[in-house]
Amino acid sequence: MPFDREIAAMTRLRGLMQQDGLDAVLIGPSASFREMMGRDANMTERLVALLVTATGAELIVPRLQAPLYEEHPVNLLIWDEAEDATARLADRLAELDIAQLGVNDEFWAGFLLRLAHHAPTLDIRPATSLERLRAVKTAEEIAGLQAAADAIDRVWARFLSENRVLTGQTELALRAALTQLMRDEGFETVAWVDVGAGANGASSLHHGSDYVIQRGDPIVFDFAGRYDGWNGDIARVACAGAPEADYLQAYALLLDAQEAAFQAIQAGVPASTPDSVAREILTQAGHGDHFTHRVGHGIGRDVHEQPYLVAGNSLPLVPGMVMSDEPGIYIPGRWGMRVEDIVVLTEEGPRRLTQSPRDLFIAD
Ligand code: ZN
Repeated sequence: MPFDREIAAMTRLRGLMQQDGLDAVLIGPSASFREMMGRDANMTERLVALLVTATGAELIVPRLQAPLYEEHPVNLLIWDEAEDATARLADRLAELDIAQLGVNDEFWAGFLLRLAHHAPTLDIRPATSLERLRAVKTAEEIAGLQAAADAIDRVWARFLSENRVLTGQTELALRAALTQLMRDEGFETVAWVDVGAGANGASSLHHGSDYVIQRGDPIVFDFAGRYDGWNGDIARVACAGAPEADYLQAYALLLDAQEAAFQAIQAGVPASTPDSVAREILTQAGHGDHFTHRVGHGIGRDVHEQPYLVAGNSLPLVPGMVMSDEPGIYIPGRWGMRVEDIVVLTEEGPRRLTQSPRDLFIAD
């Protein structure tokens, strides 16, 4: 049946909405919209949003876009070009007796402020039910994420086999090569390709430059993109010749921290636990201040989504969640390192979806 998957997702969302005491969830253009509708919304100044209620679903849509949604299993609430769409939506929410409304994080503030103005008694909250729904993947969704992980592994393997000599190349040339390999492999979007050599690797904000790689430079690679609807993301380090001894020592420690965080991805533990486990190992070795970001993030239709593996996140991990495990060590002015895998939590425990070797790759 067409839209089976989307209807099933809406049904699961309704169960979570009930737990959260929400009468409805409003979803603007986003990956969540795609999950519920099976297509992307046009993100423009014209309001389009899906309203999922306890018993049905309606799409508020401008008249000119209505034909796109004729086949979808939703009631169309069509607004005319000269109409105030947010006033129309507020009227409809009142008709439906919606008092508590969840809204997706990406919903435009301009629309939301106008809606709040037209519906002053409406209790508007972040739709955390939607985040929890998206955080737990079905078997079919995990298969999609595995395919994306396999594709990103193939990109990295091809990159290494085609770039035996790194010394003398620029970061931007390597970045262009990786981007092209992602396109060749069939990635529909490239979220980022970051290449940081030598001291540039110490900043996770460094995306690449015309810096010429010197012999002995370690190079941090981090690249991500969408493959057949699902995101892949990986980070690895390659060196232009052997790095200094302290680098090798720190790298061994980093692998220990990454493995410990991996083992800590267990059902029932808070999403903060893998982060604290990895952080403890790096801190004991004097690198606490050099690990400047959370250890991981959920991944799915968006590259970053729940569960965020970060201090303070009490969301319990459950089977079906898919997340990155990516500790890093960054010494300003000297070097950086990060190793990232994508991990699924199964009934039997954690399993890596990305399989690229984690050993330090030493090229020329
Ligand atoms: Zn990542």
